Amino acid sequence: MTSRLEQLCLDKGLKMTEQRRIIARVLSESADHPDVEQVYRRATAIDSRISIATVYRTVRLFEEASIIAKHDFGDGRSRYEEMPSAHHDHLIDLQSGRVIEFRNEDIERLQQIVADELGYELVGHRLELYAVPRSGKPRSDTE
Ligand SMILES: [Zn+2]
Repeated sequence: MTSRLEQLCLDKGLKMTEQRRIIARVLSESADHPDVEQVYRRATAIDSRISIATVYRTVRLFEEASIIAKHDFGDGRSRYEEMPSAHHDHLIDLQSGRVIEFRNEDIERLQQIVADELGYELVGHRLELYAVPRSGKPRSDTE
């Protein structure tokens, strides 16, 4: 079966090798915004011949073709996701590293107002919230 990402690649006229197809499928099926290392691990579980260099090259190729979006969630690692069909923002749980996608219409509206007031037409934005769980597990250590 052709993954959504693979279809996008084909639509953009990218030549799809078997390895690119696997990497596209891994990215398409990952909902957790993986970094290159994670994509590499998932891809090699399918085909052990895929090298980390191929993953880097392919991810860069997909990024340049605007097929995937690159994020920096503050830990110095680039993270990737399939280019979303609808806009969303991210909340990053600093304890677990979990990335939660959300969309808030008040935030969307306020950003529009800010741009308007500054005399600009808003064409896009990125918003990342960095947070810790309010009721985290009780800490048993003494650090
Ligand atoms: Zn996302």
